[in-house]
Amino acid sequence: MLACVRSSGLKLTPQRLAIVRELAADPTHPTAQELFERLRPALPTMSFATVYNTLDALASAGLCVALSLSPGASRFDPNMDAHHHAVCDRCGLVRDVPCEPSELLAERSDEIVPGPLTAAPGFEVRAVERIYRGLCAACAKGRQDESAHAAARHAGRSEENNRLRPAGARRARRPEHG
Ligand SMILES: [Zn+2]
Ligand SMILES: [Zn+2]
Repeated sequence: MLACVRSSGLKLTPQRLAIVRELAADPTHPTAQELFERLRPALPTMSFATVYNTLDALASAGLCVALSLSPGASRFDPNMDAHHHAVCDRCGLVRDVPCEPSELLAERSDEIVPGPLTAAPGFEVRAVERIYRGLCAACAKGRQDESAHAAARHAGRSEENNRLRPAGARRARRPEHG
């Protein structure tokens, strides 16, 4: 990604360079706020506006894509190759899902569209992007833990036991993503 940014003629200040590096190395499609918070310790003079404007400039130059696949702030995607996305319903995490080789080989876009676009006659397809919605591994595990905990409560544990381990304790923990 850095090479593309250099050849695009976009002016690269040390702060912008740090933002590009961080985004390029992150497979989770971070928000501007996430990048800002991560870079702040190393670059205390950098403002949120710098991060946001840099991402905006990169997106305008076609070097990254601003995604709005879940509620909340846009997430930025440095992967400009054709690919799909998996989006977590619960925490909004976005991961790349590679295209099938057959999808990449399809020369005409209508070959990869499942059936003709009858609802949009005359529509010229540029790309097909699939979104897989569900729960990320961390959120799916959190839900399993919750239901296991609920099952244990129903199994007739003593009240004292329940008081020692409040039911909400586990649920309150925020899932962490590497
Ligand atoms: Zn999640
Ligand atoms: Zn992506």
